[in-house]
Amino acid sequence: MARYTDPVCRLCRRAGEKLFLKGERCFTPSCAIERRRRPPGEHIPRRRRSSDRGLQLREKQNAKYIYGVLERQFRKYYEEALKHPGVTGHHLLQLLERRLDSTVYRLNFADSRKQARQLVLHGHFVVNGRKTSIPSYRIKPGDVITWRPNEANKEYVRQLTAGIPRRPIPGWISLDITILAGQVLALPEPSDIDTGIDTRLIVQYYSR
Ligand code: SF4
Repeated sequence: MARYTDPVCRLCRRAGEKLFLKGERCFTPSCAIERRRRPPGEHIPRRRRSSDRGLQLREKQNAKYIYGVLERQFRKYYEEALKHPGVTGHHLLQLLERRLDSTVYRLNFADSRKQARQLVLHGHFVVNGRKTSIPSYRIKPGDVITWRPNEANKEYVRQLTAGIPRRPIPGWISLDITILAGQVLALPEPSDIDTGIDTRLIVQYYSR
């Protein structure tokens, strides 16, 4: 399964903004954007005003980086979103947000989507009682996501989940802290998604 493996802070520096790819570190002075706002690389390119196409490309790239999805899969999400009636950008965001790794992150079981993806890949979660190790698994209303049986007592899970919820839990999922179980209550609405992605630019990018 292909994934982006280079240092993720470079992606923020290239984008020129915080994409919050590293969990807690993103909120500390150690954040690479706080320390060096210039793009990565030895030679500092002159900042030029981006064309419309450049802005659309950047927004699409940022969305890919935030959700940890490579181009082929991202395009598939877009093509699927196109088939739904209504606003394509909303459906695109919804499809990305419904990934199991993103939901695990939203439930505060991981510090970042990258960490959530790793945990899912290593088979730490069950969905409706069945072990599910596919990060792109699509959750639906009614699904219950829990740690694997007996996992909740393990030290690393205790460390990961100490003090949760550390971030607000969106309204479309609920978290039972006592048993560390999450339930999907509804499909995520664009207003629930705080990534700041302007999907209109992404739709414009692909519709050329
Ligand atoms: Fe981006 Fe987080 Fe790295 Fe800062 S610490 S540059 S926000 S990934």
